Amino acid sequence: MARLAGKVAVITGAGSGIGKATAVLFASEGAKVIVADWILEGAEETIRSIRVAGGEATFVKADVSKSTDVENMFKTTIGAYGQLDILFNNAGIGQMYYSVEETPEDVWDRVINVNLKGVFLGMKYGIPHMLDKGGSIINSASTGALVGFSYFSPYCASKGGVLALTRAVAHEYAGRNIRINCICPGVISTPLIERVRSSPKWETIASTRPQTPMGRLGKPEEIAHAVLFLASDESSYATGTALIIDGGYTAI
Ligand code: NAD
Repeated sequence: MARLAGKVAVITGAGSGIGKATAVLFASEGAKVIVADWILEGAEETIRSIRVAGGEATFVKADVSKSTDVENMFKTTIGAYGQLDILFNNAGIGQMYYSVEETPEDVWDRVINVNLKGVFLGMKYGIPHMLDKGGSIINSASTGALVGFSYFSPYCASKGGVLALTRAVAHEYAGRNIRINCICPGVISTPLIERVRSSPKWETIASTRPQTPMGRLGKPEEIAHAVLFLASDESSYATGTALIIDGGYTAI
């Protein structure tokens, strides 16, 4: 039986990488999916993949760092499908490598606004639509929330913030049947990682860091399955948790 039958899911950043893989998986498990992204191009491909497989999906253009866009994203969701059961706050950006003293202020602001404020806005405007029936929210943190990645401080700070925010808000809504968890992926093969790897300092910095015990990058689908567990009723006793999927990186 489909594990998300009858559910409506909003996935931000669903036009690429982990968000795309999760949108396709959720639809294959019976969810109606709102594919939200600030760029149409990748999202169209996600919608096409879902529809070809017989699933249902709707695109919403939204920049998660803008409250009007986020409010509109949920208005469109309720208008199209009448309910909101699952929210995957996945949209996020990486950065080039900078020491903290080299970090341009606008890079700090952009990374915090998308990666952390975007998750706050998703919960602020999404939770009111879950109060009647309950729901499941999954926020995208990172192993960067758990261990220090040198020359990557805005990103690590944003993801550490997502972890703390997840725990705080999970406490607030634990008695309202709204579960809030986060995931901490290791290094996953997506366009985000390709862009980080184009940083001129990549080779030097990567060589100073421990290697992933499993000896390979993760695949977006391997994260999507963890998100599916947290989204579905199978994780009904989990809230405020951080699910690490990192090939053993933080087990060192
Ligand atoms: P990706 O670049 O492949 O996809 C990110 C998607 O988010 C893109 O479609 C992009 O257009 C969208 N997006 C970016 N900013 C947005 C905004 N302001 N509003 C709406 N959409 C926006 O990246 P990915 O690797 O799939 O990353 C997804 C999430 O997973 C991010 O939060 C990232 O930090 C997190 N993560 C990734 C890795 C990894 O190794 N790839 C590891 C840990 C955590």
